[in-house]
Amino acid sequence: MDKSSDVMNQAVSAAVPGQRGFDYLIVGAGFAGSVLAERLAREQGQRVLVVEKRPHIGGNAYDRYDDAGVLIHPYGPHIFHTNSADIFEYLSRFTEWRPYQHRVLGSVDGQLLPIPINLDTVNKLYGLNLTSFQVEEFFESVAEKKTEIKTSEDVVVNKVGRELYNKFFRGYTRKQWGMDPSELDASVTARVPTRTNRDDRYFADTFQAMPLHGYTRMFEKMLDHPNIKVMLNTDYREVADLLPWKHMIYTGPIDSFFNFKHGKLPYRSLRFQHVTVPQEQFQPVGTVNYPNDYGYTRISEFKHITGQKHPSTSVVYEYPCAEGDPYYPVPRPENAALYRLYEAEADAMENVTFVGRLATYKYYNMDQVVGQALAAFKRLQQRHAAAETGTPALQSARAAAEGR
Ligand SMILES: Cc1cc2nc3c(=O)[nH]c(=O)nc-3n(C[C@H](O)[C@H](O)[C@H](O)COP(=O)(O)OP(=O)(O)OC[C@H]3O[C@@H](n4cnc5c(N)ncnc54)[C@H](O)[C@@H]3O)c2cc1C
Repeated sequence: MDKSSDVMNQAVSAAVPGQRGFDYLIVGAGFAGSVLAERLAREQGQRVLVVEKRPHIGGNAYDRYDDAGVLIHPYGPHIFHTNSADIFEYLSRFTEWRPYQHRVLGSVDGQLLPIPINLDTVNKLYGLNLTSFQVEEFFESVAEKKTEIKTSEDVVVNKVGRELYNKFFRGYTRKQWGMDPSELDASVTARVPTRTNRDDRYFADTFQAMPLHGYTRMFEKMLDHPNIKVMLNTDYREVADLLPWKHMIYTGPIDSFFNFKHGKLPYRSLRFQHVTVPQEQFQPVGTVNYPNDYGYTRISEFKHITGQKHPSTSVVYEYPCAEGDPYYPVPRPENAALYRLYEAEADAMENVTFVGRLATYKYYNMDQVVGQALAAFKRLQQRHAAAETGTPALQSARAAAEGR
């Protein structure tokens, strides 16, 4: 499609009274791009064009009703959780919430057992009746203490020993990453706690809730401002040279921005198989993990997560794979080193800000990306203030950091 066509001209003149162009070109309409568009338009009165290559807003958090009328997450289950009251309050401007605490069971040795491993997991697995104190002693007795924790295997074996590691973690991690946990950074499994009580919630954060009417509705509200124009189905490269803009916010993959000049940053991808079944419920909780059997890692059932009532139910199977959309940065030291080459180039660019999970090559949850975008907005605000008063940006940023 010729982007310099009428459609483009209409978009530009509609957005820009007096043809002054856009202040910001934002690449990507996920959390990073949408939060920044909202803040810049509402707080700063900036004129923003959001360009998104997919046919929808919301990035990977996008949700929609499937053919059966069940609300699904096409890019896998997204559960909102955060410890930050600020982030929760900020998002609450665009949505009401439904309290929801995610629960996960692991299919191990023919039983469905709580994950993260807790008191019930151990008691059910071994047919025991231990107390919290006794299970702590049990973990101590089976743990293989490591002097140095380097890999994902070290983290788990050090905490719960080799047998539980083999039953719950090894197979899952091998499927998920296509690598043995002994080859992966400690950070991958460091996120997974072990509990000596019966708490079976997957997350322990202070705020755990789902947007009452879904993520897409929340994004629609965020982007609903006369200063924000959204262009879907468009790669930013198709329009960046044709449209007038002053500053770019880039939330796509950082290596792609620099045309892979230092090489490709490795990602792990997923194939999602969505299935609707004509029964009210498919499984007892939101997610069941399959660490040791089948090609998929887990099955998630959306109605548990969204609270929707419907006579049918929809589930998604996740098959990890090497090729496909970039989902998980692969946490290995050599990849971090490669990312730093790109990061140095990004830092040197005055008129482009890199924000979000792909642009900073980090495994961030939604709340962390919102936090990162709000922090980037503050820095941009300081730049605007400095530009208006003629104060050099660095001086004003320093003054802000020192609370002057
Ligand atoms: C399977 C899975 C499950 C997850 N579950 C959870 C969860 O339960 N809880 C949680 O907190 N987090 C979860 N996450 C993480 C969450 O998806 C991210 O934190 C969040 O979506 C990141 O937002 P973002 O804006 O940085 O990136 P994205 O959502 O990826 O948005 C970037 C956007 O940029 C667009 N783009 C890229 N290149 C271009 C281009 N050249 N031109 C135009 N547009 C472009 C992309 O199409 C995309 O829409 C999960 C992630 C995955 C993969």
